Amino acid sequence: MISVKEAKKIISNNITLLSEKRLPLIESNGKLLREDIYSPIDLPPFNQSSVDGYAFCFDEWKKANKLTIEGEVQAGNTSNTVITNHTAVRIFTGAPIPFGTDTVVMQEKTTEENGILNIDDNTIQKGSNARIKGAELKKGSLAVRKDTLINAASIAFLAGMGIPEVLAIPNPAVSIIITGNELQQIGDDLTSGKIYDSNSFALTAALHKQKIFDINIIYVKDNLDSISEALKKCIEQSDLILLTGGVSVGEYDFVIRASENCGVKNLFHRIKQRPGKPLFFGKKDNSIIFGLPGNPASVLTCFYEYVLPALEKMTGQIHSLKKINSPIMNEFKKAAGLTHFLKGWYDGKVVRILEGQESYKLSSFAQANCLVIIDEDETESTEGDMVELHLLP
Ligand code: AMP
Ligand code: MG
Repeated sequence: MISVKEAKKIISNNITLLSEKRLPLIESNGKLLREDIYSPIDLPPFNQSSVDGYAFCFDEWKKANKLTIEGEVQAGNTSNTVITNHTAVRIFTGAPIPFGTDTVVMQEKTTEENGILNIDDNTIQKGSNARIKGAELKKGSLAVRKDTLINAASIAFLAGMGIPEVLAIPNPAVSIIITGNELQQIGDDLTSGKIYDSNSFALTAALHKQKIFDINIIYVKDNLDSISEALKKCIEQSDLILLTGGVSVGEYDFVIRASENCGVKNLFHRIKQRPGKPLFFGKKDNSIIFGLPGNPASVLTCFYEYVLPALEKMTGQIHSLKKINSPIMNEFKKAAGLTHFLKGWYDGKVVRILEGQESYKLSSFAQANCLVIIDEDETESTEGDMVELHLLP
């Protein structure tokens, strides 16, 4: 068995970014950009007014001190208006500044009398309230850098340049293989000796929370051939494969043997931790494989502690749980040897370990907002001790 730290290191060292792909601009939201993007146009694309007011030629006005109001330009005007001497044009925000003018005065700082404009603005200068073509970005200059995480603002910025698609890291295609002869589907009456499958729901919901929606779920019986066949198919089509159950040492635990059958490289099996001791991690071609234990609390703990960091390496996005330190409210005792991940409630100041930590119980997990990490070597913690928390999404 390896330590939690070693397991995390192995995961980190064995996963690289998924292949980049050209994505429609809106689908790149939240993803890692894999190209430098240069603007194909000037921004703004023409000289435009930043206020509602009047456009005029500053030097002409200074000379004549009088402006006659003539015509107007609205936003979206395409007529390329040309202005002659001593004329002020009614103009609106975003409208092109007519040729022959260079300055705009806000309408609030003007008065009009018999078609003559009076300007009452002692701060006005040549070029006031004019957004000059290319002032934000010149055509051909760097707009967004490679390896930026794309957000709403960068999408809008790129849309403003008329860019329809970008090269980015897509989200992974995920397969979930649920093993267990005892499992039944929701909707069927529960027969004796059976339980409802909850792991597929846990993993699907947790993946959805990470905005991963390309998920294929397969149910298989505890049978070496069925698991091997399902795994083989998933390796061909998925970036990430999550199996649940059948990863321990019982006679009906076939996940390790199935992964050997499929030529999966075993990178680790079994970690010094509770819950989730039997966790398996492997790799085959471009697929990453996690054999998660069957117990529901182990599944989620392993997902949060190991699958999320793996997703982070695959996508370049931030997936891992946020870590903080907090004083603990209750006593805790354990034997040295295993790292414990305990379901806890953090109220913003202190953390309380919840009742019901056994790996078959989801009741505590369903209330928890963090995992409390008690290291391998630790044997007890008392009230007020500082502990590490991983905040749940
Ligand atoms: P296993 O690792 O296959 O031995 O399973 C460990 C425990 O988890 C057993 O009690 C299983 O019945 C339970 N279990 C396995 N798979 C699921 C599942 N998909 N949903 C709920 N419980 C499960
Ligand atoms: Mg099983």
